[in-house]
Amino acid sequence: MRKISAKDIQECVRRLAQKANFSLRADVQRAILAAFRKEKSSRGRKILSELLENARAARNDSLALCQDTGLPVVFLEIGPDVDLRGVDVAAAVQKGAAQGYREGFLRTSIVEDPLRRGRPKFGPCVLHTAFVRRKGLKVTILPKGFGCENKTQLRMLPPTAQKDCVEDVIVSVVKDAGPDACPPYIIGVGIGGTSDYACQLAKEALLRPIHKRSRLKHVAEMERSLINRLNRLGLGPMGLGGSTTVLGVNILTYPTHIAGLPICVNISCHVLRSASDVL
Ligand code: SF4
Repeated sequence: MRKISAKDIQECVRRLAQKANFSLRADVQRAILAAFRKEKSSRGRKILSELLENARAARNDSLALCQDTGLPVVFLEIGPDVDLRGVDVAAAVQKGAAQGYREGFLRTSIVEDPLRRGRPKFGPCVLHTAFVRRKGLKVTILPKGFGCENKTQLRMLPPTAQKDCVEDVIVSVVKDAGPDACPPYIIGVGIGGTSDYACQLAKEALLRPIHKRSRLKHVAEMERSLINRLNRLGLGPMGLGGSTTVLGVNILTYPTHIAGLPICVNISCHVLRSASDVL
């Protein structure tokens, strides 16, 4: 068994919180560069080149990619060989995230009471855990900005809904977001499960490299079709027009009940931040 201490977890989350905020994911960076080469609007090309310059400056000078440093969502995937006996895992994650944000001079963005609001703090973050077959403890952090999180929508479709209807729902959610969530977007979609699980899947879908299509052929086809449809909307970089409205569409599916079809669409802005490590 692999014994992992609270200190190991805290240090890992601290490091990943800063890495995610300072270094744009390589797949996102490549997608912006590819979009820059294809973008038809000159204003769109200028914006995309500024996004690349912003990413370069953030990485080189250890600066936040965006002033909205997000609400950190942490995923722990626990393998069968991991021994966490006696470890307060949740506390270690919260301490690591708060330390990473504080020491990295990353903005505090979390209000402790969602109704009374009050002064923002460094935490707590949202924590998801899963037991997996892979060995080790995989730690992933995804700081989610709320300009785009606010555009998330859950729809409970009837079980008879066809592929076209599902695609139309996803397109309508992006249309509703319009320019408000800092496009070009990466769209995470969760289909199936229960209402809450569809939302979790939509968030997890954002963790898959955006150039990789689903392993399920019919789902990969839907992703390609949606990328084409969404880029024809003409919203463009920062909503100022152009042929790059989305950089990618990632869909995750899960078995669901015979009587329903939950769909959650989670929109990420161009600053899709996440970082992972395995302990
Ligand atoms: S939506 Fe994204 S790019 Fe826009 S302010 Fe929020 S984190 Fe920054």
